[in-house]
Amino acid sequence: MPKGSTKISKVSAFEFLDSRGNPTVAVEVITEGGGKGLFIVPSGASKGKREALELRDGDSRFGGKGVKKAIENIEKKIAPHILGIPADEQERIDRILLDIDRTKNKSFLGANAILGVSVACAKAAADTFGLELYEYLGGKIARFLPVPLSNIINGGEHAGWNVDFQEYMIVPAGFDSFEEAIRSASEIFHTLKKIIVEGGSLPLVGDEGGFAPLFPNNIAPLELLLKATEKAGYKPGEQIFFALDVASSSFYDSKRKLYILKREKKELSTDEFIDYIIGICSKYPIISVEDPLSEDDWEGWKRITPALKAKGVQVVGDDVFVTNPEIFSNGIKEGIANAILVKVNQIGTLSETFRVINTAKVFGYSTIISHRSGDTEDTFIADLAIASNSCQIKTGSLSRSERTAKYNRLIYIEQKGNLSFPGKMAFRII
Ligand code: PGA
Ligand code: ZN
Repeated sequence: MPKGSTKISKVSAFEFLDSRGNPTVAVEVITEGGGKGLFIVPSGASKGKREALELRDGDSRFGGKGVKKAIENIEKKIAPHILGIPADEQERIDRILLDIDRTKNKSFLGANAILGVSVACAKAAADTFGLELYEYLGGKIARFLPVPLSNIINGGEHAGWNVDFQEYMIVPAGFDSFEEAIRSASEIFHTLKKIIVEGGSLPLVGDEGGFAPLFPNNIAPLELLLKATEKAGYKPGEQIFFALDVASSSFYDSKRKLYILKREKKELSTDEFIDYIIGICSKYPIISVEDPLSEDDWEGWKRITPALKAKGVQVVGDDVFVTNPEIFSNGIKEGIANAILVKVNQIGTLSETFRVINTAKVFGYSTIISHRSGDTEDTFIADLAIASNSCQIKTGSLSRSERTAKYNRLIYIEQKGNLSFPGKMAFRII
């Protein structure tokens, strides 16, 4: 029972800053019962082409990146329609938002405006009920903490093209608790730093807090991860696994149908690139590969999915699905991937996000709740990962507070709650 009424009494919007120092939308919803929910919207850099539209002002402020129009939309076009509606009627609120917007890509109101309101309502409702957010969203069936996919080497668009692939992650799945898993990740991160400094490079980090030295090719970072893992005293392939986000849409030439590897000075056809990826997966303890092929190369996806699955590698669709229920359903029909990266701001409402997660579960796809490269101190995705029993979270490195805030939230929940850490089971490794 709510402590008081969940009816929305006030909606305010703010122009905050994200982790890259760019403006972003923040929304606060207050209920009649005194519940408060503040959500700060994240922002991507290597975006999928079919993502919902992030509304930017395009004027002289912040180099065109201001979000005053989105804020005005929240205050003038959205707030009058949701005041008085119970904040816990999520589907109804999201329906109202979609009905006001009436565009396919949420370009009328802006997905940043819509998402800010959608999630702030959920947070305000949870607060009115006096529940933790994951309990409110997931109820009694929220059972699992997620295994982190920690991006400790940054590349691609997130690090000025020091290497072609965007993310080299360690996955501490061989532990019994989140606390132990995150400790190992932190120790490996710091061992990696030492190795980088001893090798004569600066220990500078990219957008998601992972190190970003210059590499001669796309395999060298994996060698470094292997070295750091062993030197830190952990067993690769038993306790620590690796994951990649190739983010290959960012270096695919869709006219020439070629993958352009700048660091290696190679131009590969789809089949050559598939062999290249499979070769890498055969050499290292890789259990998950995200966007191995471009969002424009669905035919290639149909070939690489079974090939990677046969090697026991999880095949994750990010740019290719953009958390969009319709595009994802087409992907399922075509046999593309066996996991989906879930980013709330790719689609724009919480209800649509849950629709995607539920569809994934019905069709045997794993779900990985994800941050964006431009993120904030908001820890909503940590709760969403638990509420949705996703068992996997991608929220960056073991540095930069916008990344560690999510880890800290999970450490807090693990200690307080009665949840299990799924470990290798999250990747169906028994
Ligand atoms: P983005 O990248 O947030 O910059 O779009 C993250 C990812 O590709 O997973
Ligand atoms: Zn990605």
